[in-house]
Amino acid sequence: MKITIKNLTKKFKDVVAVNELSVDINDGELVTFLGPSGCGKSTTLFTLAGLYSQDSGEIYFDDILVNDIDTEKRNIGMVFQNYALYPHMTILKNIMFPLTMMKISKKQARDNVDEVVELLKIKELLNRKPNQLSGGQQQRVAIARALVKKPSVLLMDEPLSNLDAKLRLQTREEIRKLQKKLNITTIFVTHDQDEAASISDKILLMNKGKLQQYDEPRNIYDNPNNLFTAKFIGSAPINTFEIHKIDEKCYIHNTNIEINIEEDQFKNTLSARLIGAIRPEDLVVCSKEESHFSAILDQIQMIGKDNLLVFNLNEYKFRCFTSPEYKISQGDRVYLKIRKDKLHIFNSE
Ligand code: ADP
Repeated sequence: MKITIKNLTKKFKDVVAVNELSVDINDGELVTFLGPSGCGKSTTLFTLAGLYSQDSGEIYFDDILVNDIDTEKRNIGMVFQNYALYPHMTILKNIMFPLTMMKISKKQARDNVDEVVELLKIKELLNRKPNQLSGGQQQRVAIARALVKKPSVLLMDEPLSNLDAKLRLQTREEIRKLQKKLNITTIFVTHDQDEAASISDKILLMNKGKLQQYDEPRNIYDNPNNLFTAKFIGSAPINTFEIHKIDEKCYIHNTNIEINIEEDQFKNTLSARLIGAIRPEDLVVCSKEESHFSAILDQIQMIGKDNLLVFNLNEYKFRCFTSPEYKISQGDRVYLKIRKDKLHIFNSE
């Protein structure tokens, strides 16, 4: 099923939780709603589910306007952060529960249950109660319960936040695999950009109720269209610095470091205060001759297989990645080059 959201706004008294959001989600896609806490992700999801009513705007499932259609009739499956299993029921009864409200035969119900039990490999858990299950197992049951009605859309609200780091990684791979196998349109809410990048066809990045960017993870990473997006996406912080123009030349603010910027790099910028942004992998250690500037090493952090070097330069911190073979110590002077084609120029926030 395809989902179309047009100018959706949802307020709680004075708080505009979702502000004029428009987006198209294609059939069979997994889209992540990503953004900092309080940016409106869950409110958007709950409004799509019909658990909240919108203040204005339209929601279409395929070409049907669902604004006034009740949650039960929207044919959605939902998974919540805390799994929301019924504690007094066995796992089997928990999974059966959505079907008891529907007018389907016992045989059909049993077939549906068998199918999701097989899919999520939870057969041995059926006679237990939720408090006899680990977090990961409860999560699988919650997904099984969401899928048992064969919904057209799967909505997941921070489904992995209660799992430990290793299990999160494993479970997100499984969710993605399952989603592709079923080819079910899925919306997945998270505040974790690594999680979002790893499983999504597209990421919808929000801030303060507003859409910031909607695109494939790689495109958002490579071509952030504003400073918020550039800073939010990326495991290591992007380097940012203010740019000052003096006599037609651009400098890093408060330095004599000239940054050579082409006219067309200014195309999206309007304000007098410009910000340059360069990812740590695009700031490169080099020889003095090739360098744009030098700085004194302040810290070395191990990030995965690489080292992240941190430099102080006036009011800025600059970070760049190097391999562990590159030997260097705190206090050393290092020469650095900005990969010009990777330099982003934004208006200040
Ligand atoms: P997110 O899921 O991105 O963390 P939410 O959608 O939960 O953000 O919240 C968006 C904004 O709406 C926040 O400012 C939050 O405080 C507010 N909000 C969310 N739910 C309610 C509610 N039921 N009543 C009042 N304000 C709410």
